[in-house]
Amino acid sequence: MGTGGNRQGAGRPGHRLKAEQTLKVDIRIWRKVGYLAEGKAFNWRWTRGNEIAGSIGASVGLDSIRLRYAVEGQDASQTIRTTLTLCPYGGTRTWFQCPVCRGRAAVLFMRSRRFACRKCQKVSYSSQSGSAHDRANTRYHQLAAILDAGKPKWQRWATFERIEDRFEQTSNQVNHSLMLLVQRLQAGRC
Ligand SMILES: [Zn+2]
Repeated sequence: MGTGGNRQGAGRPGHRLKAEQTLKVDIRIWRKVGYLAEGKAFNWRWTRGNEIAGSIGASVGLDSIRLRYAVEGQDASQTIRTTLTLCPYGGTRTWFQCPVCRGRAAVLFMRSRRFACRKCQKVSYSSQSGSAHDRANTRYHQLAAILDAGKPKWQRWATFERIEDRFEQTSNQVNHSLMLLVQRLQAGRC
């Protein structure tokens, strides 16, 4: 412990964590519940079973979110930059910018009391014990990466279109399971 970094090449975490074992923040949920307005401050709690595993205070700035949290009895804070992308059908999407690789991420995971993206934190999704939402989300990103790369010359259009169809379905699944998640969270709120 205390090597202090998930930076490339230095003190990389030695083993993979499972997504469901880590504390994470999902900017899509915060957006859906209307928490991303500039100047907004809110508290967020993680629960594991019936126990509170951690809590976080967030203040939303113009292009960043400041996170303050206590984990294992120690206080920490981190300012995460946010970026916007345009949606194909109008509106915008907000992303975290991973503080390590600066890539866009909807979800940041905590490790050694710092947040970074799944790749930088070496978090893997377990296909057996992960939630349906996590599994759909993993598939969604895999398919998105394939589509982003475009159709290889050797591939038949029919095959590429099938991938597009699957992406569409997965995207609907992700949205649906995200809505269920948000509804569950809202139900637990007073
Ligand atoms: Zn990263």
